[in-house]
Order: sequence, then structure tokens, then C-alpha cells
Amino acid sequence: MVQSSHNMRALVVANWKMHPQTFRQARALFEATKKAAEAASSIDIIVAPPALYLHELAITYRGKRIRFAAQHAHWDGAGAYTGEVSLAQVKDAGARLVLIGHAERREMGESNDDTRKKVAGALKAKLTPILCVGEKVRGASGEHFGFVSGQLRAGFDDVALSALARVVVAYEPVWAIGSDRAMQPRDMHEMAIFIRKTIVDQYGAGGHRVKILYGGAVDAENAPVMLEGSDVDGLLVGRVSTDASEFRQLVSAIQKA
Ligand code: PEP
Repeated sequence: MVQSSHNMRALVVANWKMHPQTFRQARALFEATKKAAEAASSIDIIVAPPALYLHELAITYRGKRIRFAAQHAHWDGAGAYTGEVSLAQVKDAGARLVLIGHAERREMGESNDDTRKKVAGALKAKLTPILCVGEKVRGASGEHFGFVSGQLRAGFDDVALSALARVVVAYEPVWAIGSDRAMQPRDMHEMAIFIRKTIVDQYGAGGHRVKILYGGAVDAENAPVMLEGSDVDGLLVGRVSTDASEFRQLVSAIQKA
């Protein structure tokens, strides 16, 4: 029998986006994040700082509780891509994971085909890809399921069965990101089953090895309920991760639950 990824430690990914504005502030936020992580032994915390801060934070970090992710990297190994960073560069800077296809990157033009190349490239570079998927709008007729399965199929197109345990899917409905209300856990439960089924249809039982996260307006109040009631392995957190006190509350609420 294939072991499902459920009921393991919760994964919390702190996506700092384009914050904070100075390295000094980033260092302070990281210090606070470190304290929160040390007090929460049942949570695996991943910090995704702006690329410019990644190396310095990662090389000076001596603990074991936090791993680093890049928010974005180019799929190609090297070349004439002004302004881009490569998967090998973020790996060398200390990242162990990489966000791929975040809604805000897709909004800037990242395509399903780009995510396919990046997921495969990340695995090749020995980074864990966190493939972000999610519909922009949700109607009564359920088109969002087709939209999400299209994003999943593209992202997984070049992933071998043997690599599945190293892939994370973050479901983030675009309408919830940055909003004041998270999705209902029962709706996320339905989506988690759908995502799982889409991957299992493609790979068979090995699809149970993929971890599924929820993201979108996560805070200390809704996080424990979401982890309890929606069959997800963790959370992707934007705004709350850039506020030291809110992040501490979030992590402690999950730890208590
Ligand atoms: C995100 O950036 O992935 C996100 C979920 O943002 P927020 O938590 O602010 O909604």
C-alpha cells in the first residue's frame, strides 16, 4: 500500500513576496520567524524571502527548523535572461524549495508551459517544486475544476512517478489571495480530493505521495480549522508571514491545535 502524505507534520510556507523593503527589516523579520519556528516543533516552516535576501539569510542561519524557498526561478540552466535567477543559483544560495506558478507570477505572464519546464527543472536541480494552482473565479457550474486540472496536468507533464514524493501542490484560489476571507474548509476538502484524484488518475496510487497545501488569506483564526477539516498537509501564507506578531500567533495557533 502506498503511504498517503496525510497526518504528518504541518508545512507552513511563508511567502514574503516583495517585502520587506530593507535587508535590515528582513533580518528582523527572520529573527522573529526563527523564534516562532523554535517554539513550534510540530510544524515545518519554509521561508520564501525576496531572492536578493535569500543567500545572506540562508548562510547565516544555523538552526534546523527552517528551510528556504525561492519565490521564483527561471527554467533554463543559464543564458541571456536579464533580471532572472536560475534554479541552480537559488539552490546555491540556500533554497531547498521553489514556488512555481504563483498566481501573481501567472498574472505577469507565466504560462502552464513555463510551469511544466520549471517543475521538471527544479526536480533535476534537486529542489522541491511547490506548484501553485488555482482558479481566478468560481461559478456554480464547476468550470474551476477543469481549470485547476489543466494547470495540474501541465505542471506534472514531465514529472516521473519516482519523483512524486518530492512535489508539493499549493492550491490558492486567486479570489482568496490577498482578500479578507479564506476559503471554507469543506470547499478545500472537496478541492483536495479533486487534486488528489487528478494526480492519481495520471500516476496511480503513487499520486498519494504529493503534498497538498492551501493558500489564500490564511491567519491564526482560520489556519487550525483549515488544517483540521480540509485534508491538506499545510498552508501557504502571504501577508501574515510578513508581520512578526501575526506570524507568531499563526504558528502558535497551529501548534496548539
Ligand atoms: C500568497 O501569497 O500565496 C497568499 C496566499 O497571500 P495571502 O496570505 O496574503 O492571501
